[in-house]
Amino acid sequence: ATLSVESKVEEKQVFDGEKAALLVRELRNNFDTGKTKSYEWRISQLKAIAKMLEEKEKEIVDALNKDISKPPLEAFITEIFQAKSSCNEALQELKHWMKPEKVSTSITAYPSSAEIVSEPLGVVLVISTWNFPMLLSLDPVIGAISAGNTVVLKPSEVAPATSSLLANLLESYLDNSAVRVIEGAVPETTALLEQKWDKILYTGSARVGRIVMAAAAKHLTPVILELGGKCPAVVDSNVDLQVTARRIIAGKWACNSGQACISVDHIITRKDFAPKLINALKEELEIFFGKNPMESKDMSRIVSPMQFSRLVRLLDEDKVSDKIVLGGQRDEKKLKIAPTILLDVPEEAMVMQEEIFGPIMPIITVDNIEDSFSIIKSRPKPLAAYLFTNNEQLKKEYVDKISSGGMLINDAVIHVATRGLPFGGVEESGMGCYHGKFTFDSFSHKKSVLYKSFDADPSIRYPPYTPQKEKL
Ligand code: NAD
Repeated sequence: ATLSVESKVEEKQVFDGEKAALLVRELRNNFDTGKTKSYEWRISQLKAIAKMLEEKEKEIVDALNKDISKPPLEAFITEIFQAKSSCNEALQELKHWMKPEKVSTSITAYPSSAEIVSEPLGVVLVISTWNFPMLLSLDPVIGAISAGNTVVLKPSEVAPATSSLLANLLESYLDNSAVRVIEGAVPETTALLEQKWDKILYTGSARVGRIVMAAAAKHLTPVILELGGKCPAVVDSNVDLQVTARRIIAGKWACNSGQACISVDHIITRKDFAPKLINALKEELEIFFGKNPMESKDMSRIVSPMQFSRLVRLLDEDKVSDKIVLGGQRDEKKLKIAPTILLDVPEEAMVMQEEIFGPIMPIITVDNIEDSFSIIKSRPKPLAAYLFTNNEQLKKEYVDKISSGGMLINDAVIHVATRGLPFGGVEESGMGCYHGKFTFDSFSHKKSVLYKSFDADPSIRYPPYTPQKEKL
């Protein structure tokens, strides 16, 4: 009898389509009361997030360390500080963002005035991922709240400590009648995706991006898809070698061990310059992570055994294993892989076919640096494209000819923190964008409003269209 009671309790706790429908209905009713539309409500929630980030910094750092052994300073810089900046920017700018934008009107509407009113969409869904599980959950939620929506967050089950912390913190700090966290994996996300949302922001792989978009299409729900791709770094031979090496390392190994959507996936450089670049990378890597990087506390581990075996498979492929010029060591128990550099792996190797998302860096060599353009163009458009050069003409051509979500010249990754820039992909790397005002805009409907008076009502616009009117 006890068992059957327990199994009934367990059964009840499953988050299924019925529960998801109830949740959406409840949030829609609460949205309809209009409370989330007020400036005061939005500000109160943003202040609560800022307070939470201030008071719970240690818990957040600990959760990120548990999930992916993220070094505390890296956790602070890349997640907590970024979330705080996003929240502070919204607090500062909200009044300005919410203000209707005046636009001039045409003679045909004379006399009139016009404005664009940003109105909240309603009930929105944020599906987040595991690599920056705090920032990539909070940043969209901050934008959804700023725009006056009710919101459901589904964090990634692959970062369980952060997922559970988010659920607890958002429940205790925020207004639960408008902001909810649903934890879970595929079944829970599927139940959520069956519902009608007013917008979905999904961060993760293109494979699941397609599932999200197909589900959204049934309800004509618009989506923002923040996906990934193979982000190239083209390195010219006229660069400051030490600075270039340090910045590439910071944008690969010191950034979640390469498990970042905009981390450098591979380098393309000139054949005669590659040995110099490799030496500089080796020297700087040793300064960053010591002689035995497998023991370094300054490099995150691989997130899961599944991701670890995928990366090992990439390294152990026949065509690849003899191309290792640095690293290659791995420790299955600790889920660690040493910073690894591969030189001139063949194009058809798996490591050059899929997004690496780990500490492996292939270097592809070309005779002329401009040859890198056709290599990049032969692949799906990446989320970010990097170029290191002192050649102004090359910079111009790169910006002009290469299409990517974002672009950064002479550094890697840090464009993500420039809040005035929209962040998002193009084609296979995603659609739509967010960050700062762009998140507010993405979670708002831009309603066109034209105001007319009863004055000036020329009869020419009305039938009958008499010959006299035609003459005018
Ligand atoms: P993941 O496994 O955490 O999945 C992301 C989300 O999708 C999770 O919430 C998960 O529960 C959900 N999900 C997984 N399978 C699903 C299914 N079958 N149906 C419905 N929902 C499902 O993360 P991931 O996909 O391994 O993330 C890595 C990818 O994310 C990489 O391609 C990376 O480049 C990309 N990424 C992009 C950004 C960005 O901002 N553009 C940021 C981080 C990661």
